[in-house]
Amino acid sequence: MAEACNFIEQIVAEDLASGKIGAVQTRFPPEPNGYLHIGHAKSMFVNFGIAEKFGGKCNLFFDDTNPSKEKTEYVEAIKRDIAWLGYHWAKEVYASDFFDDIYAFAERLIAMGKAYVCDLSPEEIKATRGTLTEPGTESPYRNRSVEENLQLFREMRAGKYADGEKCLRAKIDMSSPNINLRDPVIYRILRAAHHRTGDKWCIYPMYDYAHPVCDYLQGVTHSLCTLEFEDHRPLYDWVGITLGFDPKPRQIEFARLNMTNLVMSKRYLKKLVEEGSVHGWDDPRMPTLAGLRNRGVPAAALRDFCMRAGVAKAQSECDICYFEAIVREYCNAHAPRAMAVVDPLKLTITNYEGSEEVDFEVNQLDPAAGVRKVTFGRHLYIERGDFSSDPPPKYHRLKPGGVVRLKNAYIVRCDEAVCDERGTVTELRCTYLPESRSGHDTSGVKAKGVLHWVNAETCVPAVLKQYEHLLRDADYAGQDFSERMNPDSEHVFAAVAEPYLAEAEEGTAFQLMRTGYYKTCRENGALCLSEIVSLKDTFNK
Ligand code: ATP
Ligand code: MG
Repeated sequence: MAEACNFIEQIVAEDLASGKIGAVQTRFPPEPNGYLHIGHAKSMFVNFGIAEKFGGKCNLFFDDTNPSKEKTEYVEAIKRDIAWLGYHWAKEVYASDFFDDIYAFAERLIAMGKAYVCDLSPEEIKATRGTLTEPGTESPYRNRSVEENLQLFREMRAGKYADGEKCLRAKIDMSSPNINLRDPVIYRILRAAHHRTGDKWCIYPMYDYAHPVCDYLQGVTHSLCTLEFEDHRPLYDWVGITLGFDPKPRQIEFARLNMTNLVMSKRYLKKLVEEGSVHGWDDPRMPTLAGLRNRGVPAAALRDFCMRAGVAKAQSECDICYFEAIVREYCNAHAPRAMAVVDPLKLTITNYEGSEEVDFEVNQLDPAAGVRKVTFGRHLYIERGDFSSDPPPKYHRLKPGGVVRLKNAYIVRCDEAVCDERGTVTELRCTYLPESRSGHDTSGVKAKGVLHWVNAETCVPAVLKQYEHLLRDADYAGQDFSERMNPDSEHVFAAVAEPYLAEAEEGTAFQLMRTGYYKTCRENGALCLSEIVSLKDTFNK
């Protein structure tokens, strides 16, 4: 049998070994009220991962018991995201598929004297629930007869009462130390069109009641969820035991993935989209799976991150730099190298005529990727930031009278910086050393700096986009997320790029030399280079 790598896998392995279960069945249970985010990737890693590892199955279970917030658009987006991550669900099921059964089980609870219709308003129910130190008070409707309860519940279903006028509550224990067991509401009246069942229902089951029923009906063996449901487990078990579920699914909780610099809640992410703080759910700065995909993050890197982040009971916060380091690792191994220049400055080699092809390794870490040709010529661009007319000591980039190597080409010396009337440098006039060609250098000249460049005659204009984290961190911890928003997280620059970048299939990831990992895309027909991750590793430092 597969080796167990965390406490949940250990439980599953034991249950399989002891014959308690024949095969493992899990479910990934998103509520279709928004797009999935990186936290959900962890939940998928746990649910799909365990099923895969132990030869079982994982369903995609849409928890759609909250009709006012759920939409088919989200269902489609969620399926796209799961497929992108490379997971396969056995069955696609919806809580709403089971509405009839969930209802029938509720009638059974009533018949057993384990549930009653309550006329208290939601506010009154809240007010009589008690506190952590004080028991709650029993509802005056708690001791209605089975017959009366059944009749009222059926009338609730038939639409006889207004929203909130009545509800169905489980009859458990108003003095339980666990507030979740103080006669929780299990059905409410709500006139809201459901994205799948339309107006068929005007009563909807509550999550805590519907979930164990749906798990049971799907044959779930291990219901894996995050720690905030730990206090709900006694209710989960109460439902299963009272209704005689056999085999009863077992709920196991694990710690949520929390990360620095990220908001990881659909509600907040939705707010960002709605108030226009980002361009949409798939904005490259968003921690949504759609955003990460659009950003150019490889799905394999995300899965790997979830694995390395581990599965535990203890709450923790993962440094986003750790995630970025893994993305960088993947990009570094696979991305072809190319050159693009931000804020270009003209560089003319006055003693060079014509053009020639120089060799450029596609990826020095991957010899199989081979070598391509880049056209060198008299008119080039380098980055304005790579030249200084008044450099600090030990400045290895270009300065008046200084030398640098142009990547994979020649050493050049800066003879003159031409300025306009305002003193802004508009052109560097240089000479090259003909004996200094990369790989054949016999010039004897040492150039400490190596600059990337593009050929002014063949280059294409591009827009280059860099991103910062959406949220500021550390010092801002504990503050409301809107106060932590980074107001300036997208930077757009004019750039020029090798034609190679424009020819690549849209969405290809490149390492732009000395700049970072970027994905190509088109914006209004123009080449856009969108940052995936920077070159600098701030995590390992
Ligand atoms: P949100 O607050 O973002 O809406 P949620 O938990 O309400 O999150 P669901 O759609 O209900 O979102 O989540 C589906 C599954 O993903 C649940 O089992 C939930 O526990 C899990 N999940 C959500 N966020 C995280 C996270 N940050 N880390 C691990 N699992 C998560
Ligand atoms: Mg939820």
